[in-house]
Amino acid sequence: MKRITIPHIGMRVVKTAVAVVLSYLVFVPFHLLYREELGGVLGQLGPLYACIASIICVQSTLGQTVQLGISRLIGIGVGGVLGTATLLLGPALDDPWIKAPVLGLVCVAGVWLCLLFRRPGACVMACILPCVILITGVTGATRYHYAIARILETVVGLLIALAVNAALPDHRPEPEEEEPRIRVELDNETRKLCVIGDPVLHSLSPALHNTMLQALGLNYIYLCQPVPRGKCAAWLESARLAGYAGFNATMPHKEELLPLMDELDEDARLIGAVNTVCLRDGKAYGYNTDGEGFLRSLADEGIRPAGLRVLVLGAGGAAKAVCLKLAQAGAEVVVCNRTVEKAAELCTHDPERLRPAGFDPETLRREAAGCRLLVNCTSLGMEGTKGRFADFSFLDELPRGAAVVDLIYAPAETELLRRAREKGHRTANGIGLLVNQAVLAMERFTGAEVDAAEMKKLLSDKLF
Ligand code: NAP
Repeated sequence: MKRITIPHIGMRVVKTAVAVVLSYLVFVPFHLLYREELGGVLGQLGPLYACIASIICVQSTLGQTVQLGISRLIGIGVGGVLGTATLLLGPALDDPWIKAPVLGLVCVAGVWLCLLFRRPGACVMACILPCVILITGVTGATRYHYAIARILETVVGLLIALAVNAALPDHRPEPEEEEPRIRVELDNETRKLCVIGDPVLHSLSPALHNTMLQALGLNYIYLCQPVPRGKCAAWLESARLAGYAGFNATMPHKEELLPLMDELDEDARLIGAVNTVCLRDGKAYGYNTDGEGFLRSLADEGIRPAGLRVLVLGAGGAAKAVCLKLAQAGAEVVVCNRTVEKAAELCTHDPERLRPAGFDPETLRREAAGCRLLVNCTSLGMEGTKGRFADFSFLDELPRGAAVVDLIYAPAETELLRRAREKGHRTANGIGLLVNQAVLAMERFTGAEVDAAEMKKLLSDKLF
């Protein structure tokens, strides 16, 4: 025997009914129930559109109610304007052979306008209202009254829906904003790439590289692979066996990979770290694209390091790539770090162009004077960390027109960049480096030539 299931009447349905009842009752005390004899807008006013508006809105979350309400208002407004505009055609509309194409044109115009306002949800109302005006034969000045009355009713319905939705329990949670997901098509020829790290699941690299691969039409997939510290040799063997075309490396593997490579490029040797590995013909080729990626990001901002005095804050892995490439490009760099011994060690790689210093406010102020470029390579100000600069007075010492670059890209504007911008300095965040080093890695992996400017625009539109 077929089981009969009894439909469940939940709080949402009750709320809808309450909103409809209120939307009707609110018109009753004012005797506004479509009474022609009242004339003007009042004669056209009644609860129908208010009830319809409240039905739609009360069924969604509070946020969606507002959005849907705005769409509905836009739809009613657009439909009202278009419907009344047909008045210009006058008695011609009495001919159904003229009225029919006008109806079609008005609907097309209504949908087009709603899409122009990016409100596809408004399209239905934008079409219904002029149709009602044209088909039911609302004519003359009454057409204006009719349109205005519908807009007023809709406003009343939306306000009631919002009030009921907010006042009664059972708020649906607002849907969480979805992480951008990238769909990749796979077949048996698809080649594998990944990023390794520990931790690595937060990495933006898969989104970045898969977006680029898709745009370039290359049959690769880019994954995220956690590899514990100290396990790079084992990972390399697995990657070879699994047929990986290559991988990127982030903390803490960049140095550990160095002795495991069959061949190293000049920058990997210079910086003493590998961030890109290509696996070809059983061999591992190690590259470092961070330093060159940084120089390219400076070039994108119109900054030429040759002969420039630069203040670099920090002496960690990123600072090393930045400082050594800046020095190679002919800049004079002072490296200020909390642990001054680390800055001193970094500077031994190019003592002619690199000079270590401390990180106290007095030293930072002194060293900032005369520097035309400041690069923050510390994690101070990064999202998810507690560290903040204790003092920003060093920004006052930078000459006019100096540039301040922060390698951090989340948040897009750190407190350092905001203060620098407010003081009139040029600023840039870490997205330039992120994108340029990824573009260079992509070229190594695939052999494709990648237009970095185009990729930066694409990635900015899609991911940042
Ligand atoms: P790292 O090796 O851990 O170095 C961190 C640096 O920050 C060290 O110099 C450290 O000083 C300094 N630091 C940390 N906390 C501090 C505090 N409370 N006060 C003063 N200094 C402090 O990290 P990394 O790999 O070089 O990365 C550094 C930053 O660059 C991070 O924010 C990272 O997100 C960013 N980054 C961006 C990109 C990109 O693509 N845009 C690429 C790489 C890195 P001590 O030596 O005294 O500990």
